[in-house]
Amino acid sequence: MLPFVMAWVRYHEKNALRYGRKLNDTEINWAKKIGITHPHKIRILSLKRIPTPIPHFIEKIIQKLGFPAGNASGMCMRYGIYTRQLHANNKSLIAHELVHTHQYERHSSLWNFLKLYLTETMMLGYANAPLEIEANNTAESTIATAHQHPPIPQKITHQ
Ligand SMILES: [Zn+2]
Repeated sequence: MLPFVMAWVRYHEKNALRYGRKLNDTEINWAKKIGITHPHKIRILSLKRIPTPIPHFIEKIIQKLGFPAGNASGMCMRYGIYTRQLHANNKSLIAHELVHTHQYERHSSLWNFLKLYLTETMMLGYANAPLEIEANNTAESTIATAHQHPPIPQKITHQ
C-alpha cells in the first residue's frame, strides 16, 4: 500500500506546486514560527473537492473509523497543500496543513513520514494519532500568538 500512497502524494504535490498560490506574509510568518525550513517552496491549491488515494467503497469504511475521507477540508503533500474551496480562507486549516509540512521536513523523506503517519492513524484512529494532535495544537498556538507584536525596545534616554 505504501508505494502506491507515495506515488499518489508525489503526483499531487507536483500538481499543487504547479498550479497553487504562494503563501502570503502572514502565512510565511506562521510557517517560520512552526519551524518550516523552506516556507517559500510551499504552494496552496484550492479545489472543489479534495481527492483521496482510495476507491469510494473503501472510503466509506474508512469514514466509519473516523477519517474525514472524501470530505476532507485540506490535505498536505509536503510542499503542496490542497484546501477545499469552502474552507480556503480558514486560518486553522492552513496552519494545520503547514504543521504537516514541517512534519514531512522533520522526517526527512516522504517514505519515513508517510509510514509513520499511516501507522499512527491505522493503529490509533485519526483523532488520536500524535501527528494529528500535534498539527491541531501547534496550529492553534501559532494563530493565537502570531498577531502579538514583539516587545517594543525601551528608549534609552540620557540625562
Ligand atoms: Zn491533519
